[in-house]
Amino acid sequence: MRVAGKNSRGAVRAASKTSSEDGDIEARLRERALLAMERAYAPYSNFQVGAALLGSDGSITCAGNVENAAFPAGTCAERAALACAVASGVRSFRALVIATSAEEPTSPCGMCRQALVEFSPELDIISVTRAGKEARWRLGELLPHAFSPRSLQRTD
Ligand SMILES: [Zn+2]
Repeated sequence: MRVAGKNSRGAVRAASKTSSEDGDIEARLRERALLAMERAYAPYSNFQVGAALLGSDGSITCAGNVENAAFPAGTCAERAALACAVASGVRSFRALVIATSAEEPTSPCGMCRQALVEFSPELDIISVTRAGKEARWRLGELLPHAFSPRSLQRTD
């Protein structure tokens, strides 16, 4: 994990973009993730999470966590954004920005890591806090030796 302060900026990987365009994209992702966090429905945990997912086509799909009185029916922001993007026809992703108001940047839960690795094992993940702290990972760092579609290949 790489943690940085408010003024540290890294660029989202994008082979065909300049670093200033990457910075613009990342700024938009942060803005959208923070807005989704504000709109999250988390009356039980009071832990609002926003996620902004950058598709390989340049699209940005956002969602917040949506809790439920029947707790297991709740959904994480990351998987909600993923489902929305897939429903829009996007199945490959470059980056995910997660926003919370926690003291330290939070990584996606295990279930979200598994859901994301299905589509983009090399996803860049940037977690930001309302106060401006951030951390960065590659999905492969967070979920090494993942069970993936290749795991289902059989020899018979
Ligand atoms: Zn999750």
